[in-house]
Amino acid sequence: MLENKNISRTELSEIGEFGLIDILTKDFPIENPSTIKGIGDDGAVIDFGNEKAIISTDLLIEGVHFNLAYVPLKHLGYKAVMVNLSDIYAMNAIATQITVSIAVSNRFPLEALEELYEGIRLACNHYKVDLVGGDTTSSTRGLIISITAIGKASSDKITYRNGAKENDIIVVSGDLGGAYMGLQVLERENEVFKINPNSQPDLDNYQYLIERQLKPKARQDIVLLLDKLGVKPTAMLDISDGLSSELLHICKQSQVGCRLMEERIPLDPTLINACEEFELSSTMIALSGGEDYELLFTISPSDYDKIKGNPNLSVIGYITDYSQGCNLITRNNEAIPLVARGWNSFRQ
Ligand code: ADP
Ligand code: MG
Repeated sequence: MLENKNISRTELSEIGEFGLIDILTKDFPIENPSTIKGIGDDGAVIDFGNEKAIISTDLLIEGVHFNLAYVPLKHLGYKAVMVNLSDIYAMNAIATQITVSIAVSNRFPLEALEELYEGIRLACNHYKVDLVGGDTTSSTRGLIISITAIGKASSDKITYRNGAKENDIIVVSGDLGGAYMGLQVLERENEVFKINPNSQPDLDNYQYLIERQLKPKARQDIVLLLDKLGVKPTAMLDISDGLSSELLHICKQSQVGCRLMEERIPLDPTLINACEEFELSSTMIALSGGEDYELLFTISPSDYDKIKGNPNLSVIGYITDYSQGCNLITRNNEAIPLVARGWNSFRQ
């Protein structure tokens, strides 16, 4: 696939490390006044004035976190940035800079890395973040990408996982489970393709789910919306591993319990259809499927009127006293203890 996609193939050995860095980083204009020095020196220089810096980093390994058989490099670059920006937004902060480090084997020509950086560039452009540095090295096998995101927020805005209080309302943005079902669809098609390379997959019905998997959106808009509404969440994180494990993080760190209402979990109709087809429970997928990158947060009951009825936000439950534990309240009104069955890279 890597070989067919581009007509020309420029070996990395022909251009050398510095030539490669120059080519990959040439179209990244600086957008933020906080970026004093970007690429080109031994370190980047950032000035946030009176605000605090928020830093988050992620490492992605070919074969563990992504499969290039069905993830185009451009999407991979885009998504790798999204995953990191999402962590900054989850702190109720605004992302301003990233660094990108890559290790590549000689399997990859320049053209493949240009595609990867095209995705990174698109993400930087949409979210107005500056690429300010990174590192480039070779690997014996496959592709490794590490991105660090940097953001800013005033001290009174920064939101941790540990601030949820009894009676707080639990809110989630967007809808859940789509990214996981998108992956199921892509993996199924990949298996079909291995058996019959001439098969033409009909993925029209799954467009939304595939987009959720390949092109997730980090929810900067929610951070801006909450600011506009005058709501400061008491606790917040982004949903990378599935709703249940994320909610358990908030409860554990805040020393509280929760009641999560099954009927309130936001699900897209496409997801419900796909779950029926794959004979999976849509609630289970929303609870345990990862990579939706929606924001999960708690707010004080006095802020409820400010978010009520907002189409981007769903109220899905409330925080209780620690002694009551963390429970899913089913459609039949049964309380089932929540378990962390999130997606993680060590799971078999
Ligand atoms: P050093 O020898 O100090 O590690 P490099 O020669 O690796 O510096 O990098 C030169 C400049 O290019 C630095 O500003 C570095 O941050 C940046 N850079 C290196 N690799 C990448 C990359 N893959 N993406 C973005 N910037 C990079
Ligand atoms: Mg270096």
